[in-house]
Amino acid sequence: MDKKSFVEKFTGRLPRDIKSATPQQLHDALGKTVMEMFAEHWSNARQEHLSKRRGAYLSMEFLVGRAVYNNLLVLGIYDEVDAAFKELGLDLADLEEIEDAALGNGGLGRLAACFLDSAATLGLPLDGYGIRYKYGLFKQSIVDGFQREDIDDWTKYGDPWSVRCDEDTVLIEYSGQTVKAVPYDMPVFGFRTENVGTLRLWQAEPVKEFDFDVFNKQDYLEASKEKIFAEDISRVLYPNDDTDEGKKLRLKQQYFFSCASLTDIIRKHKARYGTLDNLADYISVQLNDTHPVISIPELIRQLVDNEGYTFEKALEMAKRIFNYTNHTVMQEALEKWRTDLVEELLPRIYAIIIQINEALMADMYSANVPREKTDRIKIIKGDLIHMADMACYASSHINGVAEIHTQILKDTVLSDWFSLYPQRFRNETNGITQRRWIALCNRELSAYITELLGDDNWINDLDRLKELAKYADDENVLRRFIDIKQAKKQQLADFIKAHDGIDIDAESVFDIQIKRLHEYKRQLLNAFSILWIYYGIKDGSIKDFKSTTFIFGAKSAPGYRRAKAIIKFINEVGRVVSEDPDTRDLIKVVFVQNYNVSYAEKLVAAADISEQISTAGTEASGTGNMKLMLNGAVTLGTYDGANIEIVQEAGEENNYIFGARVEELEKIVPEYDSRSVFAGDDMIRRVVSSLIDGIVSDGGSGDFRELYMALLDGASWHAPDHYYLLGDIRDYVETKLRCIGDYSADRIAFARRQWLNMCNAGKFSSDRTIADYAENIWGIR
Ligand SMILES: *Cc1c(COP(=O)(O)O)cnc(C)c1O
Repeated sequence: MDKKSFVEKFTGRLPRDIKSATPQQLHDALGKTVMEMFAEHWSNARQEHLSKRRGAYLSMEFLVGRAVYNNLLVLGIYDEVDAAFKELGLDLADLEEIEDAALGNGGLGRLAACFLDSAATLGLPLDGYGIRYKYGLFKQSIVDGFQREDIDDWTKYGDPWSVRCDEDTVLIEYSGQTVKAVPYDMPVFGFRTENVGTLRLWQAEPVKEFDFDVFNKQDYLEASKEKIFAEDISRVLYPNDDTDEGKKLRLKQQYFFSCASLTDIIRKHKARYGTLDNLADYISVQLNDTHPVISIPELIRQLVDNEGYTFEKALEMAKRIFNYTNHTVMQEALEKWRTDLVEELLPRIYAIIIQINEALMADMYSANVPREKTDRIKIIKGDLIHMADMACYASSHINGVAEIHTQILKDTVLSDWFSLYPQRFRNETNGITQRRWIALCNRELSAYITELLGDDNWINDLDRLKELAKYADDENVLRRFIDIKQAKKQQLADFIKAHDGIDIDAESVFDIQIKRLHEYKRQLLNAFSILWIYYGIKDGSIKDFKSTTFIFGAKSAPGYRRAKAIIKFINEVGRVVSEDPDTRDLIKVVFVQNYNVSYAEKLVAAADISEQISTAGTEASGTGNMKLMLNGAVTLGTYDGANIEIVQEAGEENNYIFGARVEELEKIVPEYDSRSVFAGDDMIRRVVSSLIDGIVSDGGSGDFRELYMALLDGASWHAPDHYYLLGDIRDYVETKLRCIGDYSADRIAFARRQWLNMCNAGKFSSDRTIADYAENIWGIR
């Protein structure tokens, strides 16, 4: 980087009195300057991608977080820009005020962002396609212990990291409405490579200034009750994680970005090759969950209606082009669309889905597949279109996201498909990018790793961390590691004080559970365990308890009543333990506000204990578990998702595993009776009864009683204690106490375990995941 010209361009974009510039102005000037400096580089890389077989990653969510620091790091200009800021009397840390681009809910969207980073770094031609939501995931605050939601107007002060490309605009046709899809491109810079990926996010706009033919205000208001206006389509991200809403606007969103992305792919291909006959030789499309699966009939529609291919040929091409990643085994998350809705909004797509279903049935008849089975796998069942079944039929590869998850898919959710097409199934255990999740968020630990390894090439080769295992018994190394962890804990404590107004003791153990709030993730189990420890300290059965700060970060879907009740309950438990003089110095509970990628960066670096306590068989993989491991936290968790592989890599003796396993639950669940567990165990009865015994308050909503009833009597379609909290809690508390006890008994021995977790995190680099997808699924290089 030419520092002089950087400073000139940068300051040229600032107000004359540089010191008066707001963080937003600094960010805008910095972003635009960097984008300009690397524009040519990006444009070359784009052309390079188009000249090869390439991958397109279609995802309804890209949880990219804050771009500025990461871009400076991966472009190798962080220190220079930092120095330039200082010389100008500015502080790069002021850009902490810049909002995250929270264009995703959680793990699925963050995975997409990590994948693009890895592909760019590995020099692979992979580009992302998604939606440019005007409002990302809501901003959360905690008011009186309850979640409050505010809109997330993330582009309010501009978005210097995106470039609008009007020339690539696509028209999207719904029945009775045509809208424009205008792409905004974000560069995804690889770390120490020439390669740059592109994340193309589509924004919906009206074709004309007014796309409705009503003129007076009353008519307008009447019409707006009915009509979804063009801009509405990309207005807001649905805040549901792992549940299917089945709403019309959501279907419009799915079709919107699927159609726009495929049109873009087809246009570029035709411009270069003059034919689509070889399309499948040059493009591989990954469907991130079922949200983009409407791309399958859409590709066929374009090939048949616009390009003159037969349906059979188009279907054959689709089968070569698409691949499907499944992210969940939970029934309530499997997407289904009502036939009448699809027919009303997208009649031609509906007709093609019927044809795909007929083709599937014809294949089944030829193979003499029994009727019970064809009834189960057909795409249209009754009046519902099953998106996962369409994806399985028209894809080359189907993958789960951790070993156990892929096994469960084969055994249960997709077992019919597995028996028909076993060769299509693969496992691709998820990963995280080490650029953001250690090099950026833990510069102190990264510098130390670099010092020990002699160079920083490990940032592109995470397996090299294994070489550090030889220091596991070197007390000097462990002491340095502890000092760094301590520094990160202090930084987090300072941040929590500033951001959430809560004092915490950085000398205490940091036990952290950060992830979306969901019953299956069992934050309620964690809260119960804290109460259990509280009662144990009070009655003297728990002695010498080492002071521990239990930190939670989680957003609940705004309409998910029970999850919101759990947030309030956690805060109420926190109030109880801190009001009591017997425990206030020993237990602290913090529920941080607005957990997002930037907050996660601070939390993972500071954790001692990583809580990964989902009911076995429910968490497909998890990626938060990997971020925490990489930063040297031990896992306190169940045998679920990637926890199993984490323990395989880092050693069971260095982690804290508890609870019923999948095979055990299969036997237990049919007979499980939460009421007899409740009645037969004094402590379980005591902590669960806290929901109704008046020790905590739900503000009179009755929500705590509802939680209580869900555990003992069942609720909606779920059996009592569907997620087995009461069954696992004793083992959980004992394991947790052992873990905290180990920390306080011998900090060095505990640090050794933490260290070995970090050393063995190499497998969980998304570089490994992406290299595997590239070789075995996409065939790109
Ligand atoms: C990594 C990440 C997640 C996923 O966490 P899990 O523990 O795997 O569910 C969710 N939200 C954010 C902000 C993340 O960074």
